[in-house]
Amino acid sequence: MKKITIDEVHLKDKRVLVRVDFNVPLDENLNVTNDIRIRASLPTINKIIKDGGKAILMSHLGRPKGERNTKFSLKPVSVRLGELLNKEVKFVDDCIGENVSATVNSMKPGDVLLLENVRFHEGETKNDAEFSEELAKWGDVYIDDAFGSAHRAHASTEGVTRFIDTNAVGYLMKKELDYLGTALANPERPYCAVLGGAKISGKIDVINNLINKVDTLIIGGGMAFTFFKAQGKEIGKSLLDEEKLEMAKDLLNKFDKSETNFLLPVDVVVAEEFKNDSPAETISVNNIPASKMGLDIGPETIKLFTDELLKSKTVVWNGPMGVFEMDNFAKGTFAVAETLAIVTEKGAVTVVGGGDSAAAISWAGLSDKVSHVSTGGGASLEFLEGKTLPGVAALNDV
Ligand code: AMP
Repeated sequence: MKKITIDEVHLKDKRVLVRVDFNVPLDENLNVTNDIRIRASLPTINKIIKDGGKAILMSHLGRPKGERNTKFSLKPVSVRLGELLNKEVKFVDDCIGENVSATVNSMKPGDVLLLENVRFHEGETKNDAEFSEELAKWGDVYIDDAFGSAHRAHASTEGVTRFIDTNAVGYLMKKELDYLGTALANPERPYCAVLGGAKISGKIDVINNLINKVDTLIIGGGMAFTFFKAQGKEIGKSLLDEEKLEMAKDLLNKFDKSETNFLLPVDVVVAEEFKNDSPAETISVNNIPASKMGLDIGPETIKLFTDELLKSKTVVWNGPMGVFEMDNFAKGTFAVAETLAIVTEKGAVTVVGGGDSAAAISWAGLSDKVSHVSTGGGASLEFLEGKTLPGVAALNDV
């Protein structure tokens, strides 16, 4: 399912409607606090400017639930984008209607316009045909560069393509598809996946899909404790996904019968309370006291996991190894981040799947030292589950 890219589309003098992912965090004064997603869209926007197209950008921000709400306005994003592009970025306070029409009609080749949050209209998440057609009016061609939203069939990611003939992949989306699709479909081996984070629920399908595909699957973080419980261990006050206990037992059986090497922590850092300053100690996973909870992987586990990573030629990582937001429980997560940087330097392909692992690798200052940090948390997980993303499927095949 190879898709046409922006390089195959004639952009000169065209109105180029681009779905970007500008779902960025804002502080209480509505300043952008993290502009990674805005920066990630620059190659596509600069290409349109350079080719003399008119870039009309649309995105969602937060969950305004179909209502206008200044807390979720993209206006501050237009300011930040202008600074990054070093040129004027026009902004209209809606994404459909007469004001947009007038502004689009006044645009010259090389101009950039950002439309207001598409989720101010209910039709966006409902993938409403009428709303999609309204949005589609602004584009002679459509470029989807919003990987982080491609797992949702919404008006601006899927519906709009029904009303435009030329629908192509932007540079960011292409990079995501190259790494998450091509690299992981034909991985150089050994291929190792590291999963962590709190909830096992969102990751069951990923685990199922990775059995027999990866050479080694490593599980750390809060989700490991549901597996320990499934093995009959005492887990004290550690995280437990009670509803997924049977599922965890099934997965353990599947791993027993599979070729995939399955690694769980052997020691953990425990504390009585979910607090950074709660006195911590390292113990074997076989001795977790009833009064304590596991909040990070221990040093023996760090060695076990990193030794495995050092042997790998392809690594995908999704989810922290512990409560990395608290200094005292961040060691395991940062050890994985650092080891990914080392194996990348040695020639391995390393992919970090959005969300918390992307935040962790950025905190560690190592985002540039891995092959690819995905901008899409949910989308990258669905990709790893082997699902087709509707926002990608809707684009023109090569
Ligand atoms: P998720 O959204 O499922 O990827 O989970 C990410 C969250 O998992 C992060 O906020 C971590 O603090 C949290 N987490 C990781 N390990 C643990 C643990 N052992 N106990 C509780 N929370 C954890």
